[in-house]
Amino acid sequence: MAEKKGLVVVLSGFSGAGKGTIMKHLLNKYPGMYNLSISATTRGKRQGEEDGREYFFKTREEFDQMVEKGELLEHATFNGNSYGTPKAYVQKLIDEGKDVILEIEVNGALQVKKIFPDALLLFVTPPSAAELKNRLVGRGTETPEVVAQRLAISSKESLLMPQYDYLVINDRIEDSVERVHEIIQSAHYATKINGAQIAELQEELKAFSKGENK
Ligand code: 5GP
Repeated sequence: MAEKKGLVVVLSGFSGAGKGTIMKHLLNKYPGMYNLSISATTRGKRQGEEDGREYFFKTREEFDQMVEKGELLEHATFNGNSYGTPKAYVQKLIDEGKDVILEIEVNGALQVKKIFPDALLLFVTPPSAAELKNRLVGRGTETPEVVAQRLAISSKESLLMPQYDYLVINDRIEDSVERVHEIIQSAHYATKINGAQIAELQEELKAFSKGENK
């Protein structure tokens, strides 16, 4: 059988939807099965974050240089900061047949879909807008202005949801982790990403139908 490429999986969702938590649980529950792409960003490091673990923290100049050199697969601005996906790591993993997950915002996600039409796009949302607001307020870390700002961004992002392949309604975290896992695993069997295998079988069958290989 022809060698299989890994899948590019994009996970997006509203701020407060719990996509980071889903990712953490997914990586813990299925060790070695998924690889998370680490983005470059110009935003400042938050407490507890480490360079090279959550993000590669860059100055504006460094980030712009990465863009100029074509080192980023996609990049976008979110809340005044730049974020981008380093290209080399993603390419290396899919060439090795490994799945790679990009936890990125909507504009970047749609850029990825253009570059990798077979990429699987998942959108994570809480069960309702009221629940989203509750979660943002409940964090207790954001001022009411920031909460309002995040909700306004969510409202804009929601317009792009129909362009995603799957919706993950994050009610119970364990269920969401399982759902994401099942969606990714099922995607491996999609005919559209198994074109090489199909072509190989077709060739073999053609040979048989000509009476060869009896
Ligand atoms: P935060 O600053 O809260 O870590 O991330 C803000 C937003 O940027 C989140 O929606 C996150 O998914 C998104 N993001 C993180 N890395 C990237 C990236 O490499 N590219 C894009 N387009 N968005 C990213």
